[in-house]
Amino acid sequence: MITIDEALDRILSEISAPRGEEVPLLDALGRASAEGIVAQEKVPGFANSAMDGFAVSGAALESGRREFRVVFDIPAGRYVGEPVGPAEAARIMTGAPLPPGVDTVVQVEHTTLDGDVITVEIAPAVGANVRDAGEDVDAGDVIFEPGALLGAAEIGLLAAVGVQRVRVTRRPRVAILATGSELVAPGQPLAPGQIRNSNSYTAYGQVLAAGGDPILLGIARDDLDETRRLLAAALENDVVITSGGVSVGDYDFVKQVQDELGVERRFWGVRTKPGKPMAFGVRGGALVFGVPGNPVAAMVGFELYVRPALLALQGRRDIYRPWFYARSAEPVRPSKDRTEVRRCLLTHDPDGILRFTTTGPQGSGILSSMAGAEALCFVPPEYPGGEVGTELLVTLLGGSAAERPPFQVAH
Ligand code: AMP
Ligand code: MG
Repeated sequence: MITIDEALDRILSEISAPRGEEVPLLDALGRASAEGIVAQEKVPGFANSAMDGFAVSGAALESGRREFRVVFDIPAGRYVGEPVGPAEAARIMTGAPLPPGVDTVVQVEHTTLDGDVITVEIAPAVGANVRDAGEDVDAGDVIFEPGALLGAAEIGLLAAVGVQRVRVTRRPRVAILATGSELVAPGQPLAPGQIRNSNSYTAYGQVLAAGGDPILLGIARDDLDETRRLLAAALENDVVITSGGVSVGDYDFVKQVQDELGVERRFWGVRTKPGKPMAFGVRGGALVFGVPGNPVAAMVGFELYVRPALLALQGRRDIYRPWFYARSAEPVRPSKDRTEVRRCLLTHDPDGILRFTTTGPQGSGILSSMAGAEALCFVPPEYPGGEVGTELLVTLLGGSAAERPPFQVAH
């Protein structure tokens, strides 16, 4: 059995350059940019006032002048091309372009007005309260690298530089197939010995959250022909996730059917708890994941391996989760030969340092321990155990980070 790092290395080495497609700006939300984006317009496009006030010559202020005659009134959106003289001022609103001849704005609260003459009571520095042309983005600036996630700020920035259509990377199509004769969909009657299929639903949510396009292929009973038929259909997609059927039981057909269909195995089994019966292979361009059947193990398997793969397929660089070390609220017993992955909640100690508390029973079938969990904590195999306050690696169950967490390292 291999480590989490080794498993990730083998998966990521199979991922080639993402394909792109052009979409309207708003449809790019939540997608990754397929290319570096160079601003064609500068922001702001012209020097403008950061305040409501009076635009005057900074040199005139510096030479001691305090009285100016107001010759223009400039709201946002109006351009005045005539110069303002050294003894003159323009009344100007926030965002309005500065006319020629002035470079400094005196905020209205620092002036008094008598007829059409203002007196500057508090003189600002030369250039004060003016936003320079291009101070946010200059034309020619690279605003995003390829693979950047286009969130609200990025979409706004693209709008600010006048972009209407964006080349984003394709969303991988991800087939989801549950295996097991005991499985029944919600809404169907439960016969004795049957259980609900929950893995298809958790996987659907996880795929969607990772930018993939989930395709539910239902349940394959533990039957060679049915498993073969459904897995063959699944292999038409970019990614396949099967759950269950990857242990060594008599009814675990996934391995055999994968072999028959030409899936080249890259690993089978990872040294984690939960998540040991985890499989990965490739066929043609398809990445084929077999996550364990137990509901928590299935989710952890997705979180650790499938999610980074889906993000990498979209050209993302921030394919991991934000991570840090945090203090345990409970004593931690030594782990054995596998990295233990526990679900937890985060709080802060009085000194502001993060503390994690596990979410009750941690069995790999206890899906309620995953619901509401904020983070995973990792207990590496060589961990000697520790008391309350002992520090362990914690990864968030939200957000993204470029740096891989040090899964294998005892802190
Ligand atoms: P398996 O790896 O197929 O032996 O499955 C391991 C455990 O996970 C068994 O208790 C299965 O009943 C359960 N399981 C498998 N698939 C699912 C599923 N889709 N939803 C919920 N539980 C499942
Ligand atoms: Mg099964």
